[in-house]
Amino acid sequence: MLDCAAPMAAQILDGKSLAASIRADLRERVAALVQRGVRPGLAVVLAGDDAASRVYVRNKTLAAAEIGVHSEQHEFKADVGEATLLQQIRALNENPLVHSILVQLPLPKHIDSARVLEAIAPAKDVDGFHEVNLGALLAGRPGVVPCTPAGVMRLIENAGVPLAGRHAVVLGRSNIVGKPVALLLLQKDASVTICHSKSKDLKAITKQADILVAAVGRAKLVTAEMVKPGACVIDVGINRLPDGKLAGDVDYEAVREVAGWITPVPGGVGPMTIAMLLENCFRAAARQKPAA
Ligand code: NDP
Repeated sequence: MLDCAAPMAAQILDGKSLAASIRADLRERVAALVQRGVRPGLAVVLAGDDAASRVYVRNKTLAAAEIGVHSEQHEFKADVGEATLLQQIRALNENPLVHSILVQLPLPKHIDSARVLEAIAPAKDVDGFHEVNLGALLAGRPGVVPCTPAGVMRLIENAGVPLAGRHAVVLGRSNIVGKPVALLLLQKDASVTICHSKSKDLKAITKQADILVAAVGRAKLVTAEMVKPGACVIDVGINRLPDGKLAGDVDYEAVREVAGWITPVPGGVGPMTIAMLLENCFRAAARQKPAA
């Protein structure tokens, strides 16, 4: 007999299929832009031989090609000088065929990453990491929104999860995920709490969350006991387990029995990050005037 008191498992927020539909839509919009004489151009700058970075760059450039974005890669050895990288960025800033510039992080340790990112023209800053774009986000003005936070918001909004007046808790305060996610949630009228490694009694805080975003980088940090029944749980974390499998920051199997909505890892936020990168590429090109 059906037990009516049994909790319903959470609705899975399928980032893979949402990202696929965004990419299909972008493919058409890019084709229309090309008709008007502008092919979006993405330049990727990669320094060093970090294996994961190479995989990320390959995935991004393949995804760009699939929707008709022209991409070019500028590779440098691990011992590249900062001046050489800065010179490359300046050349790309001046190149009218390049609308978006992506510097793959992490850069080699001897390079000041902040200085390199700040050298990108803000309008071409496809990752939205430039201080001008982060400042625009803070001020609630138009700018380039970082891809992962934008993907998180798209997943939440696509599922129709109410935000206004709800309590959102963000675990993590990095400039590329935690802080921008918190600002975007605030823009949608959620009441936002940000937690970090010095926060005390995490469970007491997360238990109050109607929306819980985990962007920490600690496998299965968020357990079922930390989640309010019916909450929307977004897992940004990507962690490699000793057995080689990927895990998020959320104990998925246990939390999905408590949450109202949940993202899987992989297949949740990850594909949305790439979809938002492509959207930023498209927008940067669409702002350009067509060729005379
Ligand atoms: P960072 O390492 O820059 O930031 C981690 C944050 O988590 C910090 O603010 C840190 O606090 C906080 N933190 C660490 N331990 C705890 C703890 N025990 N309790 C509460 N907070 C804690 O990571 P990122 O923001 O760059 O990335 C976070 C995760 O998201 C990673 O797993 C990363 O791989 C993943 N990621 C996934 C993407 C995707 O596309 N799906 C894209 C980008 C990142 P403090 O500031 O005090 O040190």
